[in-house]
Amino acid sequence: MLGPDTRTRSHPYPQLPVRRSHPPRRLPVPPRSEEAAVIRRVLLSLSRSERARDVVAAAPISRTVVRRFIAGDGPADAVIATAELIASGRLVTIDHLGEDVYDLAQAVETRDAYVTLLGLLDDAGLTSGAEVSVKLSAVGQALPGDGEKIALEHAREICRAAADAGTTVTLDMEDHTTTDSTLGILRDLRADFPQTGAVLQAYLHRTEADCRDLAHAGSRVRLCKGAYKEPESVAFQDKADVDKAYVRCLKILMAGEGYPMVASHDPRLIEIAGALAVRHDRAKGTYEYQMLHGVRPEEQKRLAADGEKMRVYVPYGDDWWGYMVRRMAEKPANLALFLKSLSSTS
Ligand SMILES: Cc1cc2nc3c(=O)[nH]c(=O)nc-3n(C[C@H](O)[C@H](O)[C@H](O)COP(=O)(O)OP(=O)(O)OC[C@H]3O[C@@H](n4cnc5c(N)ncnc54)[C@H](O)[C@@H]3O)c2cc1C
Repeated sequence: MLGPDTRTRSHPYPQLPVRRSHPPRRLPVPPRSEEAAVIRRVLLSLSRSERARDVVAAAPISRTVVRRFIAGDGPADAVIATAELIASGRLVTIDHLGEDVYDLAQAVETRDAYVTLLGLLDDAGLTSGAEVSVKLSAVGQALPGDGEKIALEHAREICRAAADAGTTVTLDMEDHTTTDSTLGILRDLRADFPQTGAVLQAYLHRTEADCRDLAHAGSRVRLCKGAYKEPESVAFQDKADVDKAYVRCLKILMAGEGYPMVASHDPRLIEIAGALAVRHDRAKGTYEYQMLHGVRPEEQKRLAADGEKMRVYVPYGDDWWGYMVRRMAEKPANLALFLKSLSSTS
């Protein structure tokens, strides 16, 4: 059962939670590249600011802007978006929005939300094409004391529900202070659920070594550039250096025995991934491409039509602040669209 379709033609996205109203009124101008770097740093700081979230969440944000990136509020919205994507030849990984949970009850709620979602996907017959992505900080990793243990237990229950439904889980990667803990939890989960996927971030200096560790048979590794504000001591800061690191990591994963998941919208990196697959005699389907919901949909369809596995990352839920701000930091055009929406009530 899909449950009720919560979307209607006239109201494509349900009203977002409203707090206070202090929208910035000035329209943006397109930033130059050095300005873009500053904006990116500021936005990434804001992605973890509760005060900023409260101020902006109060604004009458354009439904169309948020709806472009996020499937909707509830699990039924995610299931419907998934069915549409699968019908178009794409695969899906679903993210229940939320992160940095410091309250056990909320961590339990997130775990339960995933279990419910997996049941709905199973009922809808979608689990051969859809899996879930889980942020450990949303299921308890950041809780003081036993956080790591709690996150492991919650993730284990989600993995069990996924296995029962005939699908898999990929653990998203968050900021560098969580990398060791996340990879440790991944190792524990893989003892029982060997198909559990990992994410590695090319911008971290450590990641080439992590790629070597994880490029073994049966290992599913999503390689992304990395979306958090990280210090120079641990991460490349320059875009060109991050791109070069991405290629070095991709070479390791494509040459290895595992299953690389190429998570990028970057045309150059997508081309390089294809060339590396050919060089390593990898048949289509022994690796996959991944992109975010609402980003380069035509390219997603082109890759799928070309016989490539193309998976779309579909977020849903009302805790959209951190996710949306990271998308704006990546692409000034998204920021312009978002700021413009704050000055209108459409
Ligand atoms: C499936 C998936 C899962 C992810 N999971 C994680 C995670 O667990 N942890 C994490 O830290 N990060 C994650 N990310 C985010 C990732 O780290 C990057 O921040 C994000 O993907 C942007 O990097 P990019 O490779 O697309 O390149 P960018 O450097 O942002 O963009 C490169 C080029 O791609 C094209 N492009 C990018 N965006 C657009 C757009 N909106 N429209 C048109 N063209 C565009 C442009 O040509 C641009 O020049 C994930 C990304 C994806 C796709």
